[in-house]
Amino acid sequence: MTTYTPMMQQYLTIKSEYEDAFLFFRLGDFYEMFFDDAIKASQILEITLTGRDAGGDERVPMCGVPYHSAQSYIETLVSKGYKVAICEQVEDPRQAKGVVKREVIQVITPGTLVEGKTIDNKSNIFIGCAERLTENEFAFAYLDVSTGEGNSFIIEGGVKGLFQQLQAYNIRELVVTEELKLLLQEQATNLGIVLSIENDEMDEEKAAQYLIHLPKNCYGVAKYLLQYIERTQMRSLSHIQPFTYTESKQYLQIDANSKRNLELLQSIRGKDQKGTLLWILDETVTAMGGRKLKQWLHQPLANRMQIEERLSIVSDLIDEFFLRDELRELLRNVYDLERLAGRVAFGNAGGRDLAQLRESLRQVPEIKEKLLESGKETLINLANKMDACCDIEELLSKAITDHPPVAIKEGDVIREGYNKELDELRYIARNGKDWIAQLEQKERERTGIKNLKIGFNRVFGYYIEVTKSNLANIDPDRYYRKQTLANAERFITEELKEKETQILHAEEQSLALEYELFVELREQLKEYIPRVQQLASLISELDVFLSFAAVSEKYQFTKPAFHDGKGLKIIGGRHPVVEKMLNKQAYVPNDCVLTEEKNMMLITGPNMSGKSTYMRQVALIVIMAQMGCYVPCDEADLPITDQIFTRIGAADDLASGQSTFMVEMLESQNAITNATEKSLLLFDEIGRGTSTYDGMALAQAMMEYIHNHIGANTLFSTHYHELTALEDQLERLQNVHVSAVEKNGNVVFLHKVKKGAADKSYGVHVAKLANMPQEIIDRAQTLLEQFESQQVDHLKSQKEEEIFQLSLFEEEEPKQKKNTLKSHEQEVIQELQKADIVSMTPID
Ligand code: ADP
Repeated sequence: MTTYTPMMQQYLTIKSEYEDAFLFFRLGDFYEMFFDDAIKASQILEITLTGRDAGGDERVPMCGVPYHSAQSYIETLVSKGYKVAICEQVEDPRQAKGVVKREVIQVITPGTLVEGKTIDNKSNIFIGCAERLTENEFAFAYLDVSTGEGNSFIIEGGVKGLFQQLQAYNIRELVVTEELKLLLQEQATNLGIVLSIENDEMDEEKAAQYLIHLPKNCYGVAKYLLQYIERTQMRSLSHIQPFTYTESKQYLQIDANSKRNLELLQSIRGKDQKGTLLWILDETVTAMGGRKLKQWLHQPLANRMQIEERLSIVSDLIDEFFLRDELRELLRNVYDLERLAGRVAFGNAGGRDLAQLRESLRQVPEIKEKLLESGKETLINLANKMDACCDIEELLSKAITDHPPVAIKEGDVIREGYNKELDELRYIARNGKDWIAQLEQKERERTGIKNLKIGFNRVFGYYIEVTKSNLANIDPDRYYRKQTLANAERFITEELKEKETQILHAEEQSLALEYELFVELREQLKEYIPRVQQLASLISELDVFLSFAAVSEKYQFTKPAFHDGKGLKIIGGRHPVVEKMLNKQAYVPNDCVLTEEKNMMLITGPNMSGKSTYMRQVALIVIMAQMGCYVPCDEADLPITDQIFTRIGAADDLASGQSTFMVEMLESQNAITNATEKSLLLFDEIGRGTSTYDGMALAQAMMEYIHNHIGANTLFSTHYHELTALEDQLERLQNVHVSAVEKNGNVVFLHKVKKGAADKSYGVHVAKLANMPQEIIDRAQTLLEQFESQQVDHLKSQKEEEIFQLSLFEEEEPKQKKNTLKSHEQEVIQELQKADIVSMTPID
């Protein structure tokens, strides 16, 4: 190392502290990278790899990006899961003795990248932190660095449960201890989640203010997370709000898997929003409102009073069509207050940001007024909760110009009248010439010299020129000679000299002062951040309420009613997404009535008849209602549901490499172990991933278990028609079927759910609809009839236990098959059976 130049030694010292990041080393107008960083970055960023003599034997690999366009390169690296440490020159190179001092001022990581083109304003960017409490439980905290919102809760379901939540909250970076990292690494890599290590703990006192609401079990993770943020961001965290704690009872729990199956925020086909419940509900106009809506979708309420409070705000807004319109217009001028507050705290808010903050705050008094004028109690309450932050708006109005530029060092940011010294400087800079002209006039009057003039040249600066014939009239105590010409002398006075420096430096000084004032103002604003955040939260809620009112009206949703019992009644229910995708008239509404006495439903019907849609619509209605939104039906009378579990569709768990059937069983197991009698369970086609008897037996056993031990509201769909017989044994079970009719040998789906069991499978007819060759259809029809008669016989001759065993020990050679083996195959089998495996080598 000693052979390297001092600068390279400095680089290596700093780099050794940031092994896991690309070190962007500031050299003049560039950020340079060296050694392996340079080789790797040049490939990823597709920039030229060069070299630099740095005192060693060989040139050091180097590549660089210009300072002013660094942001997009940083984004590219970070979005690929890397970290970037920004190392700046922290002293003026002109004043430096030896190598300019440099320090890392921020580490940008996948979970803390909050600026740039790839950032979706309507989404939070969360960084998470997890700690294992028990085999089954993780403490989990997450934070959006840009808005300062943090929350924590306990995750159940072990490592699998953890990863599901990470995906549900779209966590790109998870802070863990070294030990946990080893455990999670492989799966995290598969899912594109970066694991970062934090072992240090934050100073207790410093952390305490952020952690006051947290119970003991989540205290530690939140603290680790803060420590990590502090260590990487290296700046004020004044906008970080105290972490909240989600106690599971407060919210309707929907496990990550069900969120995906029900397509709440993401469609199963991809990241696309189209086709999700969010797609239906999101008519928010602000980015903050968009994020709030997502938070509500993640956590619908489970407290009747709170839900009803939200619902009454929505109904009041529905009544007020014009008010809604006016409010939304006002909201359109409200910028992202939360992220603006974050930028103020981070010290990277520019002039334009403060102007946006001001513009946003200017809307608030009118928003409040409109709400108050409505005369509706709920809206008046909302208005009264809003602090209009008029003092902040006033301060910003006084300080910031109408249209400040993006850059804060180019001037035109601070308004005239805000600071006297700045006004003077600007005056001097702008009016220097006027002032000189006035001085010329003044000096002429004082001296009586009519042709006295003030001039300027580059070498001598400003001067007063007096012709030789008039020299007698000047005051030699005030006039200092500067230059002698053939027939004139040039002088300078104290006053002129002073002004000269002022004029020449006024521009430079005014820019510097303006910057200083701006930074001062930004500092001053930090103390107002909590108030702005609180306002932001209310505004974003208003935005969501307006959105709920808008969609409720647009799609003719109904206000749901709640009761404290268990029964669930939906009359004329619709699936909002399927309905929107179809032509509206084409959608067939369906009732779903579960009473205290009969709260399990077994749904039969052909494929494609609408079983799955029916079950999903019940879940969506429950979720929407508990978010505080109106629901797609004619009438809904609902219980407060505590958890929703679904086993729907074939959402293959590719990342963990489990078989579809295993996933099905794990999901069912999760539902069965965690559900309470206040839960809603949806089981679509349980047991279809395995052989018929196996699947049927499992399905029946699960239904019995839920019936006897859990008592939750349950919808079961199945294509095992045999299961409909259970209605006689399980008193809380009712059969329904989705009807279809045959017309001219074709099946026509009516999508209508009716009482009783379906009696026939229409699979073959669906194949016909799909234009399968006639020969196949005919053959399948014949086979079906055969199978059906065989199955009935078979069932009659077997007890349940035997059915179960049959499939578990299926590997035993079926008897009739043995006889059909060709003779050479039998020889091979005999040979193998005789083999002495213990003494054989693998090659044998
Ligand atoms: P299943 O689960 O019985 O196989 P799905 O629920 O997947 O059937 O429904 C199949 C298709 O039928 C849906 O994609 C939708 O287009 C249509 N469908 C379902 N329910 C209805 C309904 N109530 N009204 C109109 N069309 C429906």
